[in-house]
Amino acid sequence: MKLTGEELEFRVLYRTRLAEALPRVRERIAGAAAAVGRDPSSVRLVAVTKAHPVEAVHAALEAGLTDLGENRVEELEEKVAVVGRRAARWHMIGHLQRRWVPRALAASDLIHSVDTLRLAERISRVAGEADRDVRILAQVNTSGEGSKSGFDREEAMEQIMRMAELPHVKVEGLMTMAPLVEDQGVIAATFRRLRETLDALRAHATDVGPELSMGMTNDLEIAVREGSTIVRIGTALFGDRLLK
Ligand SMILES: *Cc1c(COP(=O)(O)O)cnc(C)c1O
Repeated sequence: MKLTGEELEFRVLYRTRLAEALPRVRERIAGAAAAVGRDPSSVRLVAVTKAHPVEAVHAALEAGLTDLGENRVEELEEKVAVVGRRAARWHMIGHLQRRWVPRALAASDLIHSVDTLRLAERISRVAGEADRDVRILAQVNTSGEGSKSGFDREEAMEQIMRMAELPHVKVEGLMTMAPLVEDQGVIAATFRRLRETLDALRAHATDVGPELSMGMTNDLEIAVREGSTIVRIGTALFGDRLLK
């Protein structure tokens, strides 16, 4: 396959960037894990390629990253079409509208952002029609910010227990986004609340899995110290986003 000049340039750019950035991100994860006596291999790194060209995906795969995240179904599909559905484990991390469910299911392995029971019901129905089960996380709005999607903390328990009873979804755990604040204590408290919510859920509904998807470029260490099992990292790996 012959690459255009621009593609070649991007390929080199992202390869160079990752060669520097990936060891640093791994060190950050390892350092935070060590600080609380956790095994760093218990934290899965999802490389968020959203708003970067497909060359970022090629570079990530070359660097041995196996989990890739996108926040829009169309962009996810574009990247899957180039490198292949089986080239990586694909994570849908952005807000999902119900009408996009069939396409999201076809293109992803784990949906992090299931933020209503209605959405989960639709996923279960579409999955059932395709005779499969789908792995999802329930997104919780732990910060209480109106701008964030996710279950309110008060309703999370009851709604997610109902979600876990749907026939064709497997609720692997919970996801959240920290508030945009400087105060590390506030961010840590947000993540701790997600972990406590998961503990409480698992005490009631054994069908809910142990995953905690929390931690992005700016709060990765805090998340790992608070028990994150999946961090979603874009900027620290690929630099500032280009598209959009
Ligand atoms: C963009 C995005 C990320 C990655 O954010 P960075 O700060 O660039 O690491 C993580 N999670 C979600 C839901 C996102 O939309």
